[in-house]
Amino acid sequence: MPLPLDVYNRLLAFVTEKVGRIRPCPVCGQDANFQLLNGVVNLIFADSTASFAIGPNYATHLVLICGKCGNTNLLNVNILGAMDILNGPVDAVVQTELDKLIQGDTSG
Ligand SMILES: [Zn+2]
Repeated sequence: MPLPLDVYNRLLAFVTEKVGRIRPCPVCGQDANFQLLNGVVNLIFADSTASFAIGPNYATHLVLICGKCGNTNLLNVNILGAMDILNGPVDAVVQTELDKLIQGDTSG
């Protein structure tokens, strides 16, 4: 399910600042642009008592996809620190910095 545009833009700015650019792609070797999927995925933990049973817990990830070969990278939102962006509004100072990143303003 696509995210609201303002949430997606905040996530894109956040990921760009934290991860930077992935190049070259480790699979196809091309200097392709990785795209942030507009949505999140949940990895479901398997039940440890049964090989293929689905457990009750999951981990939410952002998805970066190579624009040339489709190589897919998952970023855990908790480790990345992006859960607050998914869950609610950011404070005014952070919003100002994110707006600068979204608009490409690097003047600080
Ligand atoms: Zn690739």
